[in-house]
Amino acid sequence: MIIDAHTHIHPEKDAYGPEFDATPERLLNDLAESEVDKAVVLPLAADSPYAKRTENCFVAEWCAKAPDKLIGFASVHPLEHGDAARRLEHAVTGYGLKGLKLHPRFQGIAADDPRIVPVVEKAAELGVPVAIDCLLWKPTPLRDQLPLNIDALCKRVPAATIIMCHAGGFRFLDALAVAVANDNVYLDVSVSLTYFHGTPFEDQFMFALKQVGAKRLIYGSDHPQHPLHECYIASKAIFETHGFSKEELGCIFSGTFLSLVGG
Ligand SMILES: [Zn+2]
Repeated sequence: MIIDAHTHIHPEKDAYGPEFDATPERLLNDLAESEVDKAVVLPLAADSPYAKRTENCFVAEWCAKAPDKLIGFASVHPLEHGDAARRLEHAVTGYGLKGLKLHPRFQGIAADDPRIVPVVEKAAELGVPVAIDCLLWKPTPLRDQLPLNIDALCKRVPAATIIMCHAGGFRFLDALAVAVANDNVYLDVSVSLTYFHGTPFEDQFMFALKQVGAKRLIYGSDHPQHPLHECYIASKAIFETHGFSKEELGCIFSGTFLSLVGG
């Protein structure tokens, strides 16, 4: 079983930029033509210049159409929705979505902002993981995106299971520090793994991943901005080059994620 735990879909083909195809049909087609068995679909409860808002009901609808292929997360905006925790509860218990995606970079709220706490507490109560973007990129202030902000959130909601998307990006050593300091933190290696490959930072990035350990690492591509099949092949080769065992690859490419969603 191979799971790509970081993908996006949208009703509009160009929702992630004119050069990409964000339609669910494209994702399902790419899955059919790849060794990747399932994709985790992460919606976005925000308007941003780089990705359009995706509704939870749209994700749920496609997960229902392709239950063997798609696993859906929910997204709620802690500032836009006064009832964000209730909306999350509805998405999980009503739509059957399996986790929460928060996006400090696009939602304009830092992970250490106390206003984020109620929705993360609700995720913990519902027993679903919380994936939080920490790539460190445009357009919002970088201080709101820092991986170390997630440490403060972990201290406030110790029962939460947190997935740090993109493994901290440029601040991957900070992501390692957060994972060392908080046992319920997992790293999603999407984008950063291939970004640092072939650079002077590759060995350092892989050192950080090894320190975290395969049981806390999760593979993802960030489709449609990164091609589903090619990204899987490239990522597998990078892990193998750096001496990760078959058993460890099993964790990274499905086992760790399944341990978080009760699959
Ligand atoms: Zn993404």
